[in-house]
Amino acid sequence: MTTLSHPQIADPASDLLASIDGVTVTRRRAQTAGSGRSPSGRIQVVEPPSPESVAEIVTVAGANRIGLTPRSSTGDARFGRSNPRKGAFAIDLSGLDRVLRLDARERVVILEPGVSYRTLDGMLQEEGLRVNHPLLPPSGKSVLASVLDREPPLIPKYHWDFTDPLLCCEVIFGTGDMFRTGSAAWSKSLEAQWEAGMFQKNPLGPAQTDLAKIVQGAQGSMGIAVWASVRLERRPEIQRLFTARSQDLRQLAGLIADMTRRRLGDEIVIADRPMLSALGKALKASPPPGSQRWTLLSVVGSLPVRPEQSVACQVDELRDLARHHGLILDEVAIGEPEDFATRAFGVWGEPGFWKHHIAGASSEISFITTIDRAGPLAGTAVDTWRAVGVDPEMVATMIQPIDQGRCCHVEITAFGDPDGAGVVESSLADLAEVLARDGAFFSRPHGAVAAAAYRRCPDTVGALRTVKSILDPAGVLSPGALWADTAGDPNPVTSGRER
Ligand SMILES: Cc1cc2nc3c(=O)[nH]c(=O)nc-3n(C[C@H](O)[C@H](O)[C@H](O)COP(=O)(O)OP(=O)(O)OC[C@H]3O[C@@H](n4cnc5c(N)ncnc54)[C@H](O)[C@@H]3O)c2cc1C
Repeated sequence: MTTLSHPQIADPASDLLASIDGVTVTRRRAQTAGSGRSPSGRIQVVEPPSPESVAEIVTVAGANRIGLTPRSSTGDARFGRSNPRKGAFAIDLSGLDRVLRLDARERVVILEPGVSYRTLDGMLQEEGLRVNHPLLPPSGKSVLASVLDREPPLIPKYHWDFTDPLLCCEVIFGTGDMFRTGSAAWSKSLEAQWEAGMFQKNPLGPAQTDLAKIVQGAQGSMGIAVWASVRLERRPEIQRLFTARSQDLRQLAGLIADMTRRRLGDEIVIADRPMLSALGKALKASPPPGSQRWTLLSVVGSLPVRPEQSVACQVDELRDLARHHGLILDEVAIGEPEDFATRAFGVWGEPGFWKHHIAGASSEISFITTIDRAGPLAGTAVDTWRAVGVDPEMVATMIQPIDQGRCCHVEITAFGDPDGAGVVESSLADLAEVLARDGAFFSRPHGAVAAAAYRRCPDTVGALRTVKSILDPAGVLSPGALWADTAGDPNPVTSGRER
């Protein structure tokens, strides 16, 4: 059935997309423009009725130069990055929400874009499994979009590579061609692959290619994924939470370096005082008390075999290491639904981004770096924002070791917006330049930091343009998402009605 469900948006591009069997085209309110601030107008949204129709939509879009920006999550996001720009349409994949296979033995789930962390978590609990997820994903956050967007997961020892926990995916490139990455790249159907004992667990392939890495982090500009296989972990029977506190971040960084080398600790986070109190406020739970500037929180989880002993020996080793670094390890209650840590390391059950619950608006800058550089770089951001008038108690820092502790994700947030003047947002571009110069790596260039990230690696931008011209020759996927291309876009898209 052909449906153009909103007659007043009839224009050539909408007509073309709506003429595809089962496809709906509507007009909706855009997501919040950013930072929890007010919505930024209305957008045109295409809804595919099935994974197969995504290829048809992309083919029609390519032939007619209609821009398409994928979105798989629902509800307001942390920022409105997946709002289409340059008059493009949003392609809303949240209606494709089947779990195609959940295999407890192989510890893998294959899911469509619309499956949220909340839905998946409910299913995994019953199976004694879990997924290595980022801090407090909103209830509507798509698992597929989150792993494609390389959101930093909480458990570094299960983060073997930057692609984890994403394994394989089926992608529609801008040409309309379907491609399966990794070990899923076999001409047979998924069912035939399962029959043959293949479970889409190896991200490398076909042969020595690793095309998932091109699609990942590309903000929908290289291809649209219609399913992904995601690695799962055993859910520990026993969990114990420990904290260590210090005025000096370097002490905690030393402990983390030793812990991660020994694969000790599951979830590991360092938060400063303002971050702990913001988390406590959002979670409506008291954070672990303490007056020191920095707190390390780490959960020790049992292994499937001999759970009690496996926790006990990890705790002994952790205590030894803490002592070696001159730190005291305190145990904190975990396990009850109302506990701070149970909530902090679980899936955020509410819609929207948790930071918007603190003071409405929030701004942030995040990057990866080595843990020895995290403190000085975070200090630069904190000082910059205090200087523009943000209350020091509203500037908060969080550090998460990732990639087995080889580096860390640093996230500095300014809650609120002094005088509603947007001073923090205006400072982001310059701040990003300073941080990049001093060792911050913007592996997920978004918004105001994108210019600093791309300016420093023109060769990468050149390579990206070449790859994009092969995978999306008409330039219709997520126009404007990469390299902040205000100038020099080789393939400007012209279709779709401007708002
Ligand atoms: C530190 C930081 C700063 C940021 N700053 C800004 C900012 O200033 N302004 C801003 O607008 N955004 C910013 N972002 C980006 C923004 O936070 C995220 O892109 C946004 O939260 C995505 O959520 P969503 O629900 O809109 O989209 P989701 O549906 O969750 O999608 C996430 C990303 O994946 C892509 N995607 C979704 N589904 C698919 C699919 N099936 N196949 C391929 N790609 C897909 C989307 O296009 C999007 O880029 C920032 C992000 C970070 C980490």
